[in-house]
Amino acid sequence: MSECLFCGIVEGETPADIVLRTDEVVAFRDISPQSPVHVLVISTSHHANVAEIVAADPTLAGHLLAAAAQVAEAEGLSNGYRIVFNTGADAGQTVFHVHAHVLGGRDLLWPPG
Ligand code: AMP
Ligand code: ZN
Repeated sequence: MSECLFCGIVEGETPADIVLRTDEVVAFRDISPQSPVHVLVISTSHHANVAEIVAADPTLAGHLLAAAAQVAEAEGLSNGYRIVFNTGADAGQTVFHVHAHVLGGRDLLWPPG
């Protein structure tokens, strides 16, 4: 078994509601959605966070962003969406395998108010 939760999803050891899979990336629905559409996009190879993936393999980081935009389009988020990379514990990162949160389907104006 993978020690990393998201490597486990890549390997099929951990079930997930997968919406996109390529050799480079996997996208799946967040188990605890914060908006009507909440999809996580990860690289199939393990990198801890966005800083590490862009340093190690900028082309792969580009694939990740392209997949996030592709998911947003496929989910019908033509009015807008947010892509978030929580990076480090102070930002609330809890899974240390890089993931883009693709959020949309409601008003996401930020800061709120
Ligand atoms: P972060 O706090 O940025 O590290 O985000 C981790 C995200 O992973 C959270 O939004 C969790 O709800 C989500 N998550 C944790 N476990 C799973 C899982 N097994 N399948 C799908 N999403 C998950
Ligand atoms: Zn991993």
